[in-house]
Amino acid sequence: MIGRVAAVTDPGRRRRRNEDSYVIEPPLFAIADGMGGAQAGEVASRLATVALKESGTEASGEERIIDLIQEANRRVYDRSSTDPNTSGMGTTITVAVVEDERVAFGHVGDSRAYLIREATMEQLTEDHSLVNELLKTGRLSREEAETHPQRSVITRALGTDPDVDVDTFTIAAREGDLFLLCSDGLTDMVSEDSILSVVERNRDDISGALRALVRAANKAGGEDNITVVAFEIGDEALARDGDTLEQARPAVTASDDEVTLTEADAVPTVDTMVVPAEEIQTELLVEEGENGAIRRRHLRRRIVAWLVVLLLLAAAALVLYLRFLR
Ligand code: MG
Repeated sequence: MIGRVAAVTDPGRRRRRNEDSYVIEPPLFAIADGMGGAQAGEVASRLATVALKESGTEASGEERIIDLIQEANRRVYDRSSTDPNTSGMGTTITVAVVEDERVAFGHVGDSRAYLIREATMEQLTEDHSLVNELLKTGRLSREEAETHPQRSVITRALGTDPDVDVDTFTIAAREGDLFLLCSDGLTDMVSEDSILSVVERNRDDISGALRALVRAANKAGGEDNITVVAFEIGDEALARDGDTLEQARPAVTASDDEVTLTEADAVPTVDTMVVPAEEIQTELLVEEGENGAIRRRHLRRRIVAWLVVLLLLAAAALVLYLRFLR
């Protein structure tokens, strides 16, 4: 049984547009963080969330979620391959469907799902990101990951290929569980400990908790669009006393008490891009070209070149050293 639900979205302090999109249509909840030049990111995340809402499917649980996400992928891919203005666009997607006592999830990209249960918070999804790949293989520490300049490079997205590989899993829900779906505009700016303490402090007012999260992300710089969807497992009484769906539906902009940059002040930010995980091995440095084309520098070749230079220098130093010894 679904209790209180709430959602908040905010452009943040550095971006002119909000490319995040979300769904709260109980029992379906979702978040999508679009990417692509010009307005393409908005198109991608919107196409994906509309597809989730519209698509009918006979299946249930994880099968249902895979059907929904594949349909969303097809729509974004079809559009980007036929409309040159949106070529190369994509979006993350994190979907939850509540069925009886279970919550089924589907996930692509670096948006996240968390479960807050008995005052502890657990990340349920695994980021499909370059930084996470480097973390998993021990090439980066947690601290390095938090400030890595290529935090926004993702390894999987919706809309970049005709088929997409979807992570799915199911959680056995308990009364009082609070699930959060959030875009990286929150998790890159606010630590998990802070997210948990903000939510716990505002537990009787979930909309208030989400607004406080947006304020925290903006205070920390607000470098990206910030979106959070929350739903609670509870009884009907709780749902009636708390936020109703109608209250939650209009997206609350929480930055009214924050200074928002004007277009002239806005600084260019690093845009999200996709690099398949298998390419990370050989092509570490990725830069976006002037017209959005992805240029790849072959780091390995450069390392070899530097090693050769270092070896030559070492040899020269050795020769000089031996000369002086005589
Ligand atoms: Mg984002």
